[in-house]
Amino acid sequence: MGIDCRWSSLLPILLFHCGWHNYSPVSAVPRHRTLEGSVEQFWHVSDLHLDATYHLVSDHTKVCASSKGKNASEPGIYGDFMCDSPHQLILSALNYMKQSQQRASFMIWTGDSSPHVPVKELSTETVINYIDNVTSTILNFFPDFQVFPALGNHDYWPQDQLPVSANQIYAAVAKLWRPWLTDEAISTLNKGGFYSQIYQSQTTQQPLRIISLNTNLYYSPNQVTVNMTDPANQFEWLEDTLESSFQKNEKVYIIAHVPIGYLPYVRNVTAMRKCYNERLVMLFRKYSSIIAGQFYGHIHRDSLMVLLDEKGIPVNSLFVAPAVTPIKNFLHVDSNNPGIRLYQYDPSDYSLKDLCQYFLNLTEANIEKKPIWKLEYIMTNTYGIQNLQPESLYGLVKKFKDSHSDQFKSYYKHYIVSYDSSYVCEEYCKTTQMCAIQYLDEASYTDCITGGVL
Ligand SMILES: [Zn+2]
Ligand SMILES: [Zn+2]
Repeated sequence: MGIDCRWSSLLPILLFHCGWHNYSPVSAVPRHRTLEGSVEQFWHVSDLHLDATYHLVSDHTKVCASSKGKNASEPGIYGDFMCDSPHQLILSALNYMKQSQQRASFMIWTGDSSPHVPVKELSTETVINYIDNVTSTILNFFPDFQVFPALGNHDYWPQDQLPVSANQIYAAVAKLWRPWLTDEAISTLNKGGFYSQIYQSQTTQQPLRIISLNTNLYYSPNQVTVNMTDPANQFEWLEDTLESSFQKNEKVYIIAHVPIGYLPYVRNVTAMRKCYNERLVMLFRKYSSIIAGQFYGHIHRDSLMVLLDEKGIPVNSLFVAPAVTPIKNFLHVDSNNPGIRLYQYDPSDYSLKDLCQYFLNLTEANIEKKPIWKLEYIMTNTYGIQNLQPESLYGLVKKFKDSHSDQFKSYYKHYIVSYDSSYVCEEYCKTTQMCAIQYLDEASYTDCITGGVL
């Protein structure tokens, strides 16, 4: 018998298995977990993109500003695939997290609160209002809970143009996020939109430092930072912070909005400018022994990356969480159902043990007029892996390579958060995905794409 079943009967309000009311507890128990083995958890939410204009009207071009005049597809209480999140969708996600009564130590929130609308329809004031609205909603649901936020490219006006020094928006978020952050974190957040902070654990002596990067400074559309070698001196600060963590035997979780590496759906494109991507990859390789996990958003899809060192050895596990917003990008045929996730880690060294992904079938929720959030998958169970360590993930990626790999089919289903089972990813699509999962620097990625070195 594993920890999950016993604990849930002994302590009915403190749960350590993902699917407490919609998943068989017997099959939900990963084999490696015992009563002696200790597991703790944290939530990850990303890309909430609230659209305050969302309302149900008969003219489907007027349901939400974020459809930009296009028809909403099947608008309902919980949203539409042509629109950003109505408030009801965000409330349902947070409510599900709260009522699940999972004992989580903290939450990471990787940015993007405002909707996808033309720049002229927003302003500094309205973007601050959106961040304020989402922050207050999170605080209302979880008043005394540690949250580590990161800024997104939509958490600025004009979007993507995050600056390298103090400004009205950094000042506003520093004030709004005061309940969660230390004075030191607030100080760097004010100046450059990034911070680091020790997570105050009640159960372990091993310190964990959360490093929240402002990778929007490196985002390709950011015109402010063109030709800068070190925007806001974040590289210098990051290297100093990692070196100090190394000296003090801290473990580190990297959180940020825009991920490093290559986009999984289009070839030869990094989310960041390539020079910044190369520099981050080098830095993360150098300090991979203390980096226990990297967590990103922005892509809106559920994706993995494995950072390999110069010799091809897997040294870091990277996770891109799917968005809460279901909005369809005009570049894509697919979209994603709303998702939120829970990670499980070993508090003795913060190594990642498992991931429980939850989702809302938006079409079903709108028909039923009920937000039926469900467990979508448990990573170790679904893929038959031991844990989320770089070696395990790399072993899984090797299985993806087989033609007709069932694991890769599952991966793609999860990539779009069970949006539509008729979407499959084969050949060209699969090679693009596989290269992005494994090769984060330009030289190895180019070899993969041009030489078919999967
Ligand atoms: Zn986003
Ligand atoms: Zn974004």
